[in-house]
Amino acid sequence: MPFADLHLHTFFSDGTYSPEEMVERARGWGFSALSLTDHDTVEGCERTAAACALAEIEFITGTELTAQHEEHEIHILGYFLDTSHRGLLSEIEKFQAVRQNRIREIVARLNSLGIMLDAETVLNLANCRSPGRPHVARALVQAGVCSGLDEAFERFLKKNRPAFVPKFKMSASVAIDLIHEAGGVAVLAHPGLNHADQVIAPMAEAGLDGIECFHTKHSTSTAEHYLQIADELNLLVTGGSDCHGMNKGKPLIGTIKLPYQHVEKLKARAKERLAK
Ligand code: AMP
Ligand code: FE
Ligand code: FE
Ligand code: ZN
Repeated sequence: MPFADLHLHTFFSDGTYSPEEMVERARGWGFSALSLTDHDTVEGCERTAAACALAEIEFITGTELTAQHEEHEIHILGYFLDTSHRGLLSEIEKFQAVRQNRIREIVARLNSLGIMLDAETVLNLANCRSPGRPHVARALVQAGVCSGLDEAFERFLKKNRPAFVPKFKMSASVAIDLIHEAGGVAVLAHPGLNHADQVIAPMAEAGLDGIECFHTKHSTSTAEHYLQIADELNLLVTGGSDCHGMNKGKPLIGTIKLPYQHVEKLKARAKERLAK
């Protein structure tokens, strides 16, 4: 039975793999289809599509938008979007400018703590439009301030630490609408990590198409719990490894093998949306 991984990151956001390395690993595992879901960007889609074409793997365009429903941070996956859609690109560009400014704010806080680091160094190291805290962590390690990424997060970057700066989040309903306008389908990422089951029903009302039931950090019982919610609310089912390359030790690609029938249902939904 063919299978897919619909949640993957590269160095176009906070992953470590290039698109080519990621696709090579997917080919090794025997995936038939994959989607690139870098945070708040679609920058890596073109290269990933080209690598997938060579590897004879079906590529599904994707992104993972940082969003908020009331006080809950949630991540919304968009699939089958037109990555050249003007409205989508202009929203994403605003998002990315905020992310780049956030890097400058984090670095200014580090500077005020006596740590000499230059924001441009971090942005050059990130070398993508959607930089984040892992890039600051890498710069701190390179500068010899911290011995590893974990130390950088523990001492400076995580919530309630001195260089923490909150991230901009778009409203969940805006994120869903934006994905739909770009011809895509909207899926709630890893609900088990956000402890926000109460947001699912209102988001379904707002047009959410599916939930990511299968995720590396969902136990079997968590996956079953969300399969039941998906069934009750008539939502589609997706899954993915959320592999960030070598960022967090062992690469996660290969841990989730989503049966291809779910991809077919997603694809049918995207077609229905386009026909509207
Ligand atoms: P940001 O989007 O800038 O808030 O950064 C969030 C990212 O930081 C997550 O997707 C993780 O990849 C990474 N991250 C969070 N905590 C840690 C940690 N303790 N060690 C390494 N990476 C982390
Ligand atoms: Fe991430
Ligand atoms: Fe996420
Ligand atoms: Zn992710």
